[in-house]
Amino acid sequence: MAAALYPWQHAAWDALAGRLRRQQVPNALLIAGPAGVGKSVLAAQLVAALLCESPEPASLQACGHCRSCRMVDGDGHPDSRTLTPEEDKASISIDQIRDIVHFLNLTPQYGASKVITVTPADVLTLAAANSLLKTLEEPPAGGVLILVSERPATLPATVRSRCQAVRVNRPPRDQAIMWLQQRLTTAQRPQAALYVDLAQGRPLQALQLAEQQDLLACREAVLGGFDQIISGGQQVISIAEQWLKFGLKESLYWIDSWLVDMVRLKAGGEQPPGLANPDLSERLLTLAAGCTLQRLLELQQLCVGIRREAHTTLNPALVIETLAIQLARKTR
Ligand SMILES: [Zn+2]
Repeated sequence: MAAALYPWQHAAWDALAGRLRRQQVPNALLIAGPAGVGKSVLAAQLVAALLCESPEPASLQACGHCRSCRMVDGDGHPDSRTLTPEEDKASISIDQIRDIVHFLNLTPQYGASKVITVTPADVLTLAAANSLLKTLEEPPAGGVLILVSERPATLPATVRSRCQAVRVNRPPRDQAIMWLQQRLTTAQRPQAALYVDLAQGRPLQALQLAEQQDLLACREAVLGGFDQIISGGQQVISIAEQWLKFGLKESLYWIDSWLVDMVRLKAGGEQPPGLANPDLSERLLTLAAGCTLQRLLELQQLCVGIRREAHTTLNPALVIETLAIQLARKTR
């Protein structure tokens, strides 16, 4: 059985179910929303429902036990494919699209639908996106394309305009905290709100953070170096080396979250809503005092760019040193 919908996804599902009921499922859907809200679960539920032989009458979700559902849950359904970047590749190539378009044009082996999920869709190369566009213009009968993206704005407008958008939003903070509390140990439960804030309201991200051992100790250690650089310390390169030991991804995550908070504090006073690190607000406000809002925004933009490229970099030391040097330059 495809993983159950998360409690905050029911409105999005109801909208999809309405379309299923009226047999108005578009040939191309774009499931968009931030990382950590469960877009892939919604996509998997839709795939299962489209292929199911006897969906639940009320919800129109897949029944979980027909022949199609068993294939979906087992080795895969012959009328469904998922397209992701090939191993060691950062993007989805035009050859992969050609292959999938060929598959989409074959007659379904079981029901009336063929479903392709492209995830993440924002790593389609331009040529691949254009090739996909042709299929979106004249889709074969019963063919459904589901694009999943946390950065839909990076998709070509021509592709976006041919897709029906389905938005998966962050749940209200209280709902996210309650959901997370049910998954934490008794000892961790009092920290649920902090994890939700640290994850900027994204429940699955919050759960991942909660599962990391020494998370808060690691944050404190990275923050020590951040504090030193902004306060005029000279050991910029050795601080960058320490950050690398804590992990490039992790360090960048924290630095980005503090820069975002510092921008909010600088622009919005002592306790603006939506801080990712509300427990550090006084310290971050002090650090922000010596910087201009403009410089903080520039640094945060730089950090976003570096984070985006970080997973493909061959030289993580250079990446983190560049950020450390810019932090030192722009905050003094
Ligand atoms: Zn079924």
